[in-house]
Order: sequence, then C-alpha cells, then structure tokens
Amino acid sequence: MCGNIVIMKRVVVIGGGPAGMMAACRAAECGARVTLLEKMNKLGLKLSLTGKGRCNITNTEPQIMTFIEKYGDNGKFLINAFNTFFNKELMEFLKRRGLVLKELSGGRIYPDSDNSWNVVDVFADYLKELRVHIELESPVKELLHYQNIIGGVVHENGTVLCDAVIVATGGNSYSKTGSSGDGYQLARVTGHKVTAIYPGLVPFNLLDIDPRLNGLKLKNIKATVTVDEEVLSEAFGEFYFTEWGADGSVILRLSRDVKEEIQEDYLTLHIDLKPALDEQKVHERILREINSNGKISYRNMLKEMLPEKMISYFITRTQIPEDTKIANITKEQRETIVKNLKDLTFTITGTRSFDEAIVTSGGVELSHIDPKTMESKKIKNLYFAGEVLNIDGDTGGYNLQAAFSTGYVAGENAAKEKENNEEN
Ligand SMILES: Cc1cc2nc3c(=O)[nH]c(=O)nc-3n(C[C@H](O)[C@H](O)[C@H](O)COP(=O)(O)OP(=O)(O)OC[C@H]3O[C@@H](n4cnc5c(N)ncnc54)[C@H](O)[C@@H]3O)c2cc1C
Repeated sequence: MCGNIVIMKRVVVIGGGPAGMMAACRAAECGARVTLLEKMNKLGLKLSLTGKGRCNITNTEPQIMTFIEKYGDNGKFLINAFNTFFNKELMEFLKRRGLVLKELSGGRIYPDSDNSWNVVDVFADYLKELRVHIELESPVKELLHYQNIIGGVVHENGTVLCDAVIVATGGNSYSKTGSSGDGYQLARVTGHKVTAIYPGLVPFNLLDIDPRLNGLKLKNIKATVTVDEEVLSEAFGEFYFTEWGADGSVILRLSRDVKEEIQEDYLTLHIDLKPALDEQKVHERILREINSNGKISYRNMLKEMLPEKMISYFITRTQIPEDTKIANITKEQRETIVKNLKDLTFTITGTRSFDEAIVTSGGVELSHIDPKTMESKKIKNLYFAGEVLNIDGDTGGYNLQAAFSTGYVAGENAAKEKENNEEN
C-alpha cells in the first residue's frame, strides 16, 4: 500500500535515529533501494538514551488534535503525518516485530523490558530483512543537486548518487550521540531557512543556589516562571535541586514555554510548596499548631511541614531563630513563613547547554516543507524528517512519535515515482 511505484527508486537516508530508521524501513517496504548513512559507529545512539535508558516510545492519547497540542503552535504541521502513521500504528509496527510494550502513568508507552536497545534492535533487524544498505561512520558533508533537483550526497567515504534524499540528522542536543546540527547546514546551503535554535526540555541554572538544597526532591509542588511579574508558564509535579540549579519534569516542561525570554532576561522561579492550600489555609494551619503545641521550637514545627533536607535552608531563608518557641512567633514572622511556603523564589540565570537538553527547539522552517509528504518546497526529491524540523514536543513520548511519523511519511513519499517528475 505504498502508492504509485513505477521503477525502483534509489533513496539515501541521512541519519540512523528513529526518524531515519523508520524512513529507511518505509522506503524499502515501498520498493526503493535504500542506503542509510549514519555518522556514528552504531544506529540509534540517542534512542538508546531515551526515557533514562527505558525509551518512552509514544503516548496513548487517542485524539490527534489533543496530541498535537503537546507541540505548541507548530503541532498543526504534524496532522497529516499523524493521519498516516500515529501512535496506534507505531505500537502495532513494534509489536508485529516482537517488541512487548507496556503503558505507564499518563499514557506513556515503554518496552516491557525497560531496555531502549530492544527498540533499536527491532529497527536494526528489520532494516537487515529489507536489505537496506547501511554505512556507519559515514557523516554526510554535502547534498548534490542540479538546479532544484536532488541527485546525491557526498559523505566522508564517498559519493552516492540517488533519486531522493531524506535528511534525518536530528537536532543539536546531546551531540555525543551524533546529533550536532549537521542537518541545519545541509538545509541552509540548499536554500532553506533555519529558525533560531534553543535548548528545549532543559534544566535551569539558578543564582547563588544554597549547597544544602543539592539533591532535594520536591513532589507535588506548583512552579511558576515570571518576568517582571508577568506569568510566562506554570506547571505542577516534581523537581529536584542540583548543585547548579533545578531539574526534573516540572522544570523541563516550564523550559519549553520560556525558551525565548530566558535568552534575554533573568527570570524568576516561584515554588508553591503547599499548592493544595491557599494562603489563608496555610495561616490557619500554623495558628492551629501554635495554639495546640506552643512550646515546640520553630525547627520542630517545620518538621511537620517540610522535607528534612529543606529545614535548615528554610530557617535561614525566613531568618527566624530555629529554637524560637512557636507560641512566641510574631504575626510578621508568621507572614514570612507563609510567604516562603507559598512563594519561595529563585532567580533563573539561564538554561543548561544543548548537551543537557532533551530536544532542540527550532530547526528547518516548516513553511519550506510540504506536511503531506515531508518534501522540500525548494528542492525536488529532498525530504526532511524528525527533530531537524522546527518541531519539538513535551515529555511523554511526543518527540519520538513525531520522529517516527515524519520519518514514515518521508520514506513512503521518497520511494514514490511522482507523475509530474519528468526530470528524473
Ligand atoms: C536524554 C534524552 C532522553 C530522551 N527521552 C525521550 C523519551 O523518552 N521519549 C521521547 O519521545 N523523546 C525523548 N527524547 C527525544 C528524542 O530522543 C529525539 O527527539 C529523537 O531521537 C529525534 O529523532 P531523530 O531521528 O530526528 O534524531 P536523532 O535521534 O538525533 O538521530 C539523528 C541521527 O543522525 C545522525 N547524523 C547526524 N548528522 C549526520 C550526518 N551529517 N551524516 C550522517 N548521520 C548523521 C546522528 O548520528 C543520529 O544517529 C530524549 C532525548 C534525550 C537526549
């Protein structure tokens, strides 16, 4: 079911990540003779790191229109690709090839083995079965094109002539895995705009972080980021302090919404340690404690309210002596305690670097790509798929689904003989 195949097309796929491996499989399934060129000495190195080595493959959210909300405004670009190959199709593809899947909270899908290499292996085996020619340690340096038609690629070890090329080189994060932004240069020199790129899903650096907080994990908190009192983003969940700042699911989620502002300004991170109680309720709770247990010390009262690892820091922050009997706490001091429980603030000085970012925000300009086929509108028979595009999603399996779906569509269309393609 691959459309009008007339002759065997020669397709080169650049990049052996999820988008490239899926593209190569689909192009070969559709009858093309496929060469996959990978820069590193292994396929799927970044894929092997995903989900802390467990690989959160996709998400079970059944509605495409809800799913695309996880990519922000650019999500609309994915509608066509998802209509062709969505989460259900991806899960079936993997299950058909022997991978047992499991669903965890929030609809997140993982291999039952908790081993991301099992996902890589499914592709490696299938690529072999489909007789895709794989060349490892072959970084592509140049795209060959005559006027506006692609004709081949030049890589470190030679030149491959072909009828179609799929650029699936990934983004610019975790460059040790091979994704170091090469695709942006390949796109630029062939006339495509590449937007500004930022580290996405990335931890924050905080100003003057107190070493006592290092390693402290906070659960069920609300975190908000503001600039000049304007709220930029807020999220609920958990995060932890590190020696340089803040990391964890809440922080990664916030980082997507503030990626531009964070380049320009110091932002403020507000932590609400008691999001289930409003300020009044927190006051009442402290007053109850004071009325029933007035002889205990401030430190002992905090033991009921905060994780152990936070208490010394909180005492310093509120500047109330730790051995103060709580019956002696003044109204002003009570207000300071409530303020710090409900709105503990830190200055965000920036994000960690690309090498600690889960994704790259930004990439090849989407208006230069046909969302139905992933073909460039500038160069015929040149396709783009995966994170090299200006698409990035939330945590929860969304980035891999986008890579697999766009890879599938690019592979299928690259293998097709187009009716109006007389030049080839
Ligand atoms: C630590 C970490 C955890 C993550 N966890 C998850 C998760 O659980 N779920 C999720 O959905 N997403 C996750 N992501 C994001 C996800 O891994 C990426 O969005 C996804 O891998 C992008 O796929 P891709 O094929 O476009 O690019 P990549 O996976 O980056 O693959 C690109 C490939 O192209 C190769 N390449 C680059 N340049 C060249 C060249 N010039 N010539 C030849 N080959 C080249 C690279 O070596 C690489 O193998 C995670 C990312 C990281 C870093």
